[in-house]
Amino acid sequence: MFNLESLLRENIKRLVPYSSARDEFKGEASVFLDANENSFGSPLPVNYNRYPDPMQWPLKYKLADIKGVPPQNIFIGNGSDEAIDVLFRAFCNPGGIDNVVLCPPTYGMYEVSAHINDVIIRKVSLTPDFQLDIEGLQQAVDENTKLIFICSPNNPTGNSIHRSDIELLLNNFDGIVVVDEAYINFSRQKSFIQELTEYPNLVVLQTLSKAWGLAGLRVGMAFAGEEIINVFNKVKPPYNIGQATQELALQALDNVARVNEWIREIVIERDLLSAGLEQLPMVLKVYPSDANFVLAQTTDAKGIYHFLTQRGIVVRDRSKVELCMGCLRITVGTPAENLQLLETLKSYNPKTETPVSA
Ligand SMILES: *Cc1c(COP(=O)(O)O)cnc(C)c1O
Repeated sequence: MFNLESLLRENIKRLVPYSSARDEFKGEASVFLDANENSFGSPLPVNYNRYPDPMQWPLKYKLADIKGVPPQNIFIGNGSDEAIDVLFRAFCNPGGIDNVVLCPPTYGMYEVSAHINDVIIRKVSLTPDFQLDIEGLQQAVDENTKLIFICSPNNPTGNSIHRSDIELLLNNFDGIVVVDEAYINFSRQKSFIQELTEYPNLVVLQTLSKAWGLAGLRVGMAFAGEEIINVFNKVKPPYNIGQATQELALQALDNVARVNEWIREIVIERDLLSAGLEQLPMVLKVYPSDANFVLAQTTDAKGIYHFLTQRGIVVRDRSKVELCMGCLRITVGTPAENLQLLETLKSYNPKTETPVSA
């Protein structure tokens, strides 16, 4: 049985959260002398002298509208990376007590965040077709396993994880199942955010960094039951999202139609890029993608990476990553960028390239 109280770290259970000036007074007033701000203003065309809304309510209401999830089920972080870090700090006792389960090859931040928080990592590699190893997961999980991270569509492989496998985990694991949906907008699969009432142990991560084109703003979301969101709110820094970021994100969210149009274009370009790559002699395989990037297995990842950077094109060399031998991860660019990449690759000749030292 899932029991939030028993999952939480003792210190978090006992924690009296910081109470900000904005928490203690919420009414209307004209003179604010309660937060040691500069009452004169800001040395900018627009004033930012007041602390922002610690709960980002207007932004949450708009997200609620777009996502079809109540605002009390939303946490907003300084990128989804903040949500990942808060999960570790709230649930995982450091120093060799608790553990988390990761399924490589996957997003690198789960491991880094585990290390920063000094939490044990148990790795259960994906199968050769990049799906969950259910038996391996069953063996890896014990009473000290607090979190399982599932990335779907997965970075860097690009595929979605079978929904039934994620449901199996949600139904049988008493810790928290984190489903990272950073790339969900590009996927044929349905999001898990409509299942929050079904699964009290579900946390879904999404972000404005990918489809929404706002990586520079740093806005990530966690969707979960109210109990878990309350934990996020207790642990997060009080003013984790700046005023300018809140305002810009709100403005951006008015443009759903434009973003949806981009998503359609990016998916079309992704499929063209995959087809183009498949024609090239140095490309052995292009993995099917549900994301805005493709994973391509090549004859010489390092050499091709080097060749491309010399011509001003940067892709990601993932060849050292488990199950990704020879692989480059390539983000879908504009039509012109994708064409430039394909044309450049056509001029690649391994015989005339000087070998790159190891
Ligand atoms: C890019 C990415 C994110 C986004 O992180 P932000 O901190 O929101 O920019 C999250 N998860 C995965 C798997 C990603 O690839």
